Amino acid sequence: MKEYIVVGAGITGAVISRHLAEKGCKVTVVDKRSTIAGNLYEEKNENGILVQKYGPHIFHTNSKRVYEYVKKYGEWEDYFLECMVYMNGKYTPSPFNFKTIDDYYPAEKAELIKERIRAKYNGAEKSTIVEMLGSDDPVIKEYADFLYDNDYKLYTAKQWGISPEEIDISVLKRVPVLFSYKTGYFDDVYQCMPKGGFTSVIANILNHDNITVKLNTDALSFIEIRDNELLIDGEHTDKTVVYTGAADELMKCAYGVLPYRSLRFEYKNEDTDSYQDAPVVAYPQADTFTRISEYTKLPVQQANGKTVIAVEFPLPYVAGQTEPYYPIPTEDSCALYNKYRKHLDKVPNLILCGRLGNYKYYNMDQAIESALELCDTL
Ligand code: FAD
Repeated sequence: MKEYIVVGAGITGAVISRHLAEKGCKVTVVDKRSTIAGNLYEEKNENGILVQKYGPHIFHTNSKRVYEYVKKYGEWEDYFLECMVYMNGKYTPSPFNFKTIDDYYPAEKAELIKERIRAKYNGAEKSTIVEMLGSDDPVIKEYADFLYDNDYKLYTAKQWGISPEEIDISVLKRVPVLFSYKTGYFDDVYQCMPKGGFTSVIANILNHDNITVKLNTDALSFIEIRDNELLIDGEHTDKTVVYTGAADELMKCAYGVLPYRSLRFEYKNEDTDSYQDAPVVAYPQADTFTRISEYTKLPVQQANGKTVIAVEFPLPYVAGQTEPYYPIPTEDSCALYNKYRKHLDKVPNLILCGRLGNYKYYNMDQAIESALELCDTL
């Protein structure tokens, strides 16, 4: 029986483990955390509310294959996330839409802005703030400047830890501006949430006789890359390792540290049925935090006079101290990653994958799709 070690019990590691197990291989999954599910992990708090420990996660995809895959491992219910921005003392939809114009301008001016947008964009559904900032129509430009000054600029500066003056317009948050009253944060064909939570879906994927899961186990305590060879406990091995951790850590940062942006979540119980107007609200004008998620507003939850919020603070990534959340894909960091990739691709019994292994921001459907594509080749 061929043996595999899969490093990481997140969605990538789980999908690949299941595939190998069904092919008759023996799979040992290790994770350095005390929990499965990677960043999709959630747990019930003292009030019985399911809290996602690594930020708000909603499933959305345009891939039928990915949707049908996840449906096999749990019960899901359709769910269309609505987000808001709290700006100048008011909640307004996110993505911004025509209601935003009504929210911040007197009726006559609001009609003029909408009219100019319809004419300029020929009835298109949406555009980007970058496009609108460059508009030659002074009315559209004025509206774009308002959104930029009160939201995009402030949010982006906090998110990346830079001053508003340093913002490169290409890193502005990628939420579109909608030219209608349509609401809804994502526009994918399939949008849903697992009734029992993501952790139970991952537990179901990992539930196979050929899979053993070992938690609290750092793979780097027994796996080592020496030149182009992978050693286990210092010895040559016939096992194949599927590694969903960070490429630089696997090589003891031999070429340098890959940059990430990190986050800290502050959880607060509140004695109320509702803390804010939407499950996820961006607060661009707050001093230090970017978003607040209210978990009782996500599906399959009930507030009953108690709610819980997670306040999200962006912060620098320090290896071993904070979590590597968002890769920072500059020219230099991509070149650095490619050095690791080139080296590790030469190690015959190593497969590097997942959001950390590929140094890419993946939504979970992209992580699943990429894992399934990899499975097709195994
Ligand atoms: P991970 O979930 O990070 O799993 C990797 C695992 O490997 C971890 O458990 C880690 O402990 C383990 N590991 C690493 N190194 C070692 C080692 N040396 N030894 C042992 N174990 C190791 N996606 C969506 O589709 N919808 C959303 O709404 C959404 N919201 C998000 C919000 C935030 C704030 C963030 C940061 C991401 C969000 N995502 C969302 C993306 C989603 O989290 C990822 O796509 C998904 O978690 C990727 O899974 P993965 O298995 O590749 O990585």
